[in-house]
Amino acid sequence: MQNITILGATGSIGASTLDVIARHPDRFAVYALTAHTRIPELAGLCRKFQPKVAVVPDAAAASRLQSLLDDSPHSLQIEHGEAALCAVARAAECDMVMAAIVGAAGLAPTLAAARAGKKVLLANKEALVMSGQLFMDAVTSGGATLLPIDSEHNAIFQCLPQSYSRVPQRHGIARIVLTASGGPFLKRAVDTLDDVTPEQAVAHPNWSMGRKISVDSATMMNKGLEVIEAHWLFGASVEQINVLIHPQSVIHSMVSYVDGSVLAQLGNPDMRTPIAQALAWPDRMDSGVGQIDLAQIALLEFHEPDLARFPCLKLAYDALRTGGTAPAHLNAANEIAVNAFLNREIGFRMIDQVIARVMDDLTHEPVRDMESLLQHDARARKLASGFVQS
Ligand code: NAD
Ligand code: MG
Repeated sequence: MQNITILGATGSIGASTLDVIARHPDRFAVYALTAHTRIPELAGLCRKFQPKVAVVPDAAAASRLQSLLDDSPHSLQIEHGEAALCAVARAAECDMVMAAIVGAAGLAPTLAAARAGKKVLLANKEALVMSGQLFMDAVTSGGATLLPIDSEHNAIFQCLPQSYSRVPQRHGIARIVLTASGGPFLKRAVDTLDDVTPEQAVAHPNWSMGRKISVDSATMMNKGLEVIEAHWLFGASVEQINVLIHPQSVIHSMVSYVDGSVLAQLGNPDMRTPIAQALAWPDRMDSGVGQIDLAQIALLEFHEPDLARFPCLKLAYDALRTGGTAPAHLNAANEIAVNAFLNREIGFRMIDQVIARVMDDLTHEPVRDMESLLQHDARARKLASGFVQS
C-alpha cells in the first residue's frame, strides 16, 4: 500500500489523480489533501478518501472545513499555511506526492518532497521552471524519484530508455519533439486576438484544465514553459528541443534517435493516462481511459509553430538561452499577466507585452541560492504588476 499526498487536490489534476486512485483502493491510500479556495469541495473529498491530514491556506478556512466535517465519523487533522503544506509533503507516513498546485505557490512543498526523497509526481511545471538546477539538485541530494505528469514529458519519459542518464548524446538521442495543440486561437486572425475574452481563452479544444494553464495554452506560453521543463528533466539543450503543432493531441510527444527512428507515445487526451503511468511505474494499471481508435481519428496533422502569432513561445526560448534567473522572471511575469487577463484588467495581446517588458527591464543573473531566487521572483512580479496598472 502506497500513501499519497495530493497538493492541489481540488484542481483539475487533483481530480484526475483521485479518480485513478479510487480505481485501485488495494494499492493506494490518501495521506493528505490540500486546497486553497474550494473548501466545500475539499470537505467532500475528505469524506470520500479519508485522509489523515487536510491543509488549507489559513485559520478561517481551517474552521470552515472543521464545521463542514463536524458530523464526520473519521478523524482528520486540519492544518493551515505553507509550513503545513511542506510538512505533509515530507511526512514519514507519505510515500509519494502529487505536486498539482498551480504556479510558484507549489514550489516550497514540491521542493520539500524532493528533499525528503519522496516519489514526486510533477504536474506543477512552474516550480521546476522557476528553480531549475536548484530543484534538480534537491532531487539528487534527497534521493527522490521524479516522474513527469505533464502529458508531453510523460510521453517523452515513456519513449526514453529505462536507464536514461539525462545526457541525450549517450543514448543516441538527436531531438526531443514536444507536440502542441496550438490552443483555441490557432487559426483565429491575429488582429482580432485583442478582443478575446477569458471565457474564450480558457475553452481549450482538446483538454479540460485549470484556468491558468488554459490561458497559457492559448498564448502557447504553456509550450514555452514545457521547453524549459524538458531541458531540466531530460538534460536536453535548447537546440535539441523542438515544438511541433499537432492539433489533434493524439501524439503527446516524441523522441528522435540518431538512426532515424522516432518513438512517439499516443493516447486519448486525458490526464488520467500519464497520472496512472506515473502512479504505477514501473508497472502499468487501468486509468479509466478508453483505448484510442486511430481509424476513427483517421488524420494526424503537423506543422511548425508561428512565432509571430505566439510571441510567448519565443520569449520562453529566449529565457532558456539566457539562463540564470531569466526563466524565473519569465514565469513570474507570466503569472501576473495571466491573472490580470483573467481579471479583465488587460487584453489578451497585452500578456506577451507585459512579459517582454519585464524581460527587457530586468538583469538576468546566475542563480545563487533559493533565497536570492525568490527575491528575483518578487522583483519580476512587482515590475509586471506595475506594467499591468500603467
Ligand atoms: P487548477 O487551477 O485546476 O488547480 C490548482 C490547484 O492548486 C487547486 O487545488 C488549488 O486549490 C491549488 N492552489 C491554487 N493556488 C494555490 C496557492 N496559492 N496555495 C496553495 N494551493 C493553491 O490547476 P490544474 O489545471 O490542476 O493545474 C495544476 C498544475 O498542473 C499546474 O502547474 C499546471 O501547469 C499543471 N498541469 C496541468 C494539466 C491539466 O491538464 N490540468 C496538464 C499538465 C500540467
Ligand atoms: Mg502539457
